Amino acid sequence: MALFCDVALPVPLDQTFTYAVNGVVPVVGARVLVPFSGQRLMGVVVRVHEDAPVEEFEIKPVQQVLDDAALLPEELMKLAGWIAQYYVAPLGEVLRGMLPLAAEVKRHFSYRIAEQGRKVLYEGAMKGSSRRSKLSVEEQDREYSVLNYLEGGEAAKMSALRSATGANKGLLEGMVRKKWLLREVIAEERDARRLEKVAVLVAEARLPKLNENQTAILAELAAVGGRMRVRDLRLSLTRAGVPESTLGTLVKRGLVVVEEVAEEFHLGGVGAHGKKHAHEHALNEAQMEALGTIAAAMERGGFRPHLLYGITGSGKTSVYFAAMQRALDAGKSALLLVPEIGLTPAMAGQMVAAFGGEVALLHSQLTPDERAEQWHRIRRGEARIVVGTRSAVFAPMVDLGLVIVDEEHDSSYKQEETPRYHGRDVAVMRAKFNEAVVVLGSATPSLESWSNAEKGRYARVEMRARVADRPMPLVELVDMREEFRETGQEQIFSRRLIEETQATLDRGEQVILLLNRRGYSSTVLCRSCGEKIECENCAVSMTYHKPVSGNDAIAQPGQRLECHYCGSRRSVPKACPKCESEHLYFLGAGSQQGEERLQELFPTARIGRMDRDTVRGRSDMERLLARLHGGEINLLVGTQMIAKGHDIHGVTLVGVIGADFALGLPDFRAAERVFQLLTQVSGRAGRGDLIGKVLVQTYHPEHYAIQFAAKHDYPGFVAKEMQYRRWMHYPPFAVLANVVIQSEKLEEATAWAGTLGRWFQKARLDKVRVLGPAAAPIVKLKRIYRFHFVLKAERRQTLGETLRAMLAYAETQEIARRNLVVDVDAVHLM
Ligand code: ADP
Ligand code: ZN
Ligand code: ZN
Repeated sequence: MALFCDVALPVPLDQTFTYAVNGVVPVVGARVLVPFSGQRLMGVVVRVHEDAPVEEFEIKPVQQVLDDAALLPEELMKLAGWIAQYYVAPLGEVLRGMLPLAAEVKRHFSYRIAEQGRKVLYEGAMKGSSRRSKLSVEEQDREYSVLNYLEGGEAAKMSALRSATGANKGLLEGMVRKKWLLREVIAEERDARRLEKVAVLVAEARLPKLNENQTAILAELAAVGGRMRVRDLRLSLTRAGVPESTLGTLVKRGLVVVEEVAEEFHLGGVGAHGKKHAHEHALNEAQMEALGTIAAAMERGGFRPHLLYGITGSGKTSVYFAAMQRALDAGKSALLLVPEIGLTPAMAGQMVAAFGGEVALLHSQLTPDERAEQWHRIRRGEARIVVGTRSAVFAPMVDLGLVIVDEEHDSSYKQEETPRYHGRDVAVMRAKFNEAVVVLGSATPSLESWSNAEKGRYARVEMRARVADRPMPLVELVDMREEFRETGQEQIFSRRLIEETQATLDRGEQVILLLNRRGYSSTVLCRSCGEKIECENCAVSMTYHKPVSGNDAIAQPGQRLECHYCGSRRSVPKACPKCESEHLYFLGAGSQQGEERLQELFPTARIGRMDRDTVRGRSDMERLLARLHGGEINLLVGTQMIAKGHDIHGVTLVGVIGADFALGLPDFRAAERVFQLLTQVSGRAGRGDLIGKVLVQTYHPEHYAIQFAAKHDYPGFVAKEMQYRRWMHYPPFAVLANVVIQSEKLEEATAWAGTLGRWFQKARLDKVRVLGPAAAPIVKLKRIYRFHFVLKAERRQTLGETLRAMLAYAETQEIARRNLVVDVDAVHLM
């Protein structure tokens, strides 16, 4: 009886594909290589069966089975199925995101001598055929060496053949075509622990005379505690224009040594700073109670979701640690999801400090090899504590007992490409399939999670006071309309904020200022006709970035405009592209301008800036945080990055500039976002022994999001916001999907939007509200035109059925699947 297997492939099609089993019978959950429209793709077997497919077209055989056991455990296969169903996403694309990257299936070619080759070798026919051969004599000799080398009959790897005979791939493949050689493809698993180089500052060394570049390297190293990955160091040197050879010089002079150590997470000095680690605190009463609830659920066993609502500074991290320790004690593993490891390196650092070699880290800055390595460590049960970002929710944990989602409200948990899953919600399902306990933690829980707690689906655990009886900071609103009336000037910083900042700096304390826009100016506007300079690829304003004046004093004229969506750049035009007026001016101050202004206002302050332009990777962040912790920086300005969970004890003043920009956006989550941002950034003040203060500059002082944030009243905000959501039939009172129709051709996009619009009308859906078609808020993105529908339904099943029916109809209309983006539980409607 012929055997077949159904394979899920990473292609944007909602179906699996059938292949004939050829030799090795794969198990469900194993990876296979199969031919697919001229390419070779890696897929996952989802079914093995004997039902010969009815279609007349030829069923191709599986080329290679890569795993003899299921690579994905059963509960992850189930989870994949759930995601495909819930988010209306192709199963193969879901599975692709779950596997360690394709890097490890890089095929190794090996070659074996064939009958024909043996004949050639024995007959010594090489010379005889040379007249007919296109090959040079040299190449023919090389072929002969290859045959000689393989004569024993063993297969040899391409790399071995290359070094033994000098043959390259082309030559070997030529011999395969002549049937002199047989080629074999081997997929090797590689997970040997790799070594990496770390530059270490030699502390005792007496400093000889150094040049500027050498000093720069030493300062860089000193700033992060004397140790740094050579890889990271190189990056920042390149950025600073220091030649790479300088490091070598320092090594030669004995000032720096380069060590080889097993690759792991480096703390780069972050984590300690004289403070206790989160796991070293004796828990207070509220923390004990929270831990008690979670631990009891783990003891009982089985699936149990919790919402841990704990205000900023209530010590949630210590509870996570204690709960994870309990999981380990019970012989189970624990998974901690964080929004972005690079932004809160202290969290990962403390995990390593507490759990050492048990920890595996999974995040986007790993290379494919590193990721594969971590993946296998977890799969083998060597790492039972996993800390990672969104996709770590798929870590192949052994005996998973506990899943924690820190800052569960954070929108970075939502994946903005197919499959568009929400890491938090998948974490809950993951825990369900694993019969594990799950904890969603936040000071500002999402309305979805809060409502689940209200309904009793999640157990609610609360920590409503800061540790050590620290008070919440006082929040003061500064009405910027009044400020303008009184000063007659549009200023970034109000007089009140300047005054408080000066006073705080004078007391030797630290200040953080949130200016949630990067760049110098967010818009270039024509004063004559009102035209904004837009990106040529996207329907958005371009941001002005002031060139950083280098060492030479000559001002650079090239004023750079940058699109924050597609990254394209151009220079500021001489005149308005529409009316040719030369009166172009800049509008909307960003963090870069904020920094410049602060330098004028506080010339003696030690100012730092934290945004995507100054923080590119984890090491930048660590360095900046180390400088803050050490007091080297006493005034920090930055975008929402500064609002993340940093725990800097010297900060007593937080200033907020324009956190309410977002209130004007066409997005039903705008108020929730503003409330979250204000609460999170306010939470950075007064975390040490001194009481903190927050000044919020706003044009909407009466807005409820701002009012409730000023009073630290999350429950109050939620009650109000829930009313609005209920009236408007928005989540959590309805389920929602955003459907985007996209095409590079405007006519195509509009025509398809019309086609689907008519279908929605005809379908007369009484259980689904359809808004649209409308131009998407960003109608053109990366040269692609976008229209959208927003679908709202009371029941999830109705929504799913409607979306599937729409996709089926679209297929009959020859609208390709890749032109339709289905975003279930969309977080951004842009
Ligand atoms: P959250 O994440 O809830 O905002 P953190 O977990 O960052 O708060 O804790 C805030 C600060 O309190 C940290 O400096 C932490 O080390 C400290 N801390 C935690 N638990 C205790 C405790 N029981 N006693 C004293 N300090 C604590
Ligand atoms: Zn103009
Ligand atoms: Zn653009």
